[in-house]
Amino acid sequence: MTLHLYDTYSRSLRPFETITPGQAGLYACGPTVYDYAHIGNLRTYLFVDGLRRALEFNGLRVRHVMNITDVGHLTSDADSGDDKIEARSARSGKSAWDIAAEFTRAFEGDLRQLNILPPTVCCRATEHIAEQIAFIRDLEANGYTYRTDDGIYFDTTRQDSYGKLARLNRDGLQAGKRVDLGEKRDICDFALWKFSGVPGQRQMEWDSPWGLGFPGWHIECSAMAEKHLGAYFDIHCGGEDHVAVHHSNEIAQTEARHGTRLANFWLHGAFLKTQDAKMSKSSGDFLRLQSLVEQGVDPLAYRYLCLGAHYRSSLNFTDDALRAAASGLARLRSGVHGLGEAQGDADPVWLSRFAAQLNDDLNFPRALAVAWELLKSDLPAAVKKASIARFDAALGLDLLRWQPTELAVPAQVSAWLAQRETAREERRWHDADTLRALVREAGYDIDDTPQGPQARARAS
Ligand code: AMP
Ligand code: ZN
Repeated sequence: MTLHLYDTYSRSLRPFETITPGQAGLYACGPTVYDYAHIGNLRTYLFVDGLRRALEFNGLRVRHVMNITDVGHLTSDADSGDDKIEARSARSGKSAWDIAAEFTRAFEGDLRQLNILPPTVCCRATEHIAEQIAFIRDLEANGYTYRTDDGIYFDTTRQDSYGKLARLNRDGLQAGKRVDLGEKRDICDFALWKFSGVPGQRQMEWDSPWGLGFPGWHIECSAMAEKHLGAYFDIHCGGEDHVAVHHSNEIAQTEARHGTRLANFWLHGAFLKTQDAKMSKSSGDFLRLQSLVEQGVDPLAYRYLCLGAHYRSSLNFTDDALRAAASGLARLRSGVHGLGEAQGDADPVWLSRFAAQLNDDLNFPRALAVAWELLKSDLPAAVKKASIARFDAALGLDLLRWQPTELAVPAQVSAWLAQRETAREERRWHDADTLRALVREAGYDIDDTPQGPQARARAS
């Protein structure tokens, strides 16, 4: 079965064909680094990683580009309010650049712990200012911009196709509008370049043909996607909240610059919810992966939990569900470990059963079920093991590396290790040293592994 993916733009399941044979260009919207990622954000990056692994499972070379939003994302989607990173800087006393660097580092640590493959290109908005200015200049030359007191705006009324991705009802929006638009001419118009106001008040600002300022949030993705993937590429993806505004605006910008579509496929991951509410970074009420780790949870148990729900269904996070996932993962690991060291070849029939689920719009819950069935089947152990190794390239559960000795690390030692990681992220070096000493006194050394530091019992 060929890979079929649900394309939000056409609201249909479509067979996936690459623009260039054998390789796929994938752009995924990345984090705004003004705070830690919460486990909801991480569900979206797990979905993107699953998509990438499924493309690779199908033999494609994937060029995976992810942006880091380190400027321009305002506290309100209506182009008002503060820049989230500058606001955090004002609250914390650290520079905006340090805030962005600190939370980028923490985010990369989360990705490593979840065994998420690093993107081929990870690009920062602040390192692509020239590309964003060039983009806006072209929009201006094509007649899509206007100037207000506080910035340069995109005129969405110039485009009949505006909002098609979101099936936007423009008339309904106009009738229902109650918000103060300021000098914005239409409720859907959005900022391309914002002026600094008082020069020197912001830490992140640049000269431009329109004056000192900074780019809007949407232009960074259009400009960086184009730079690293070309003006038209295979797949653009992100969380479902991006459909209505951010992705609609990215499409508008690229169509206004080139008159062509931005991406062939649009994929969106559904939200993680807690007690039926959306988890949100801006409310400050959220759960970090690191908090789970400090309670002794293996990060890959969270990956296993996410694999158990289809990416287009919302997932309700509960402690019970996480415990069940941890136990499922532990049983799967020990089953795989029990297959021993025998070498063999993967079974083609089981491989195609697994691929059929993956290729049915990334049905990881059923693909995982195929892995379980294989394990319980009466195939020779060596064949099972080789088949599971191939499955795991898509599941990303790191099943073959697992050794039972890891079980022997007491929860208290794992918790100290996790607390030490947090202390290091937060540059509390003294606390980090104290925690390291506790781990060592308990008889464990600390190994740095691709999954982050791990405790290993010291040979006496
Ligand atoms: P942000 O750092 O706020 O720009 O968000 C990063 C990514 O996380 C975006 O792709 C969002 O769509 C996604 N996201 C935000 N909240 C959730 C949630 N509760 N569940 C899943 N994804 C989310
Ligand atoms: Zn984006």
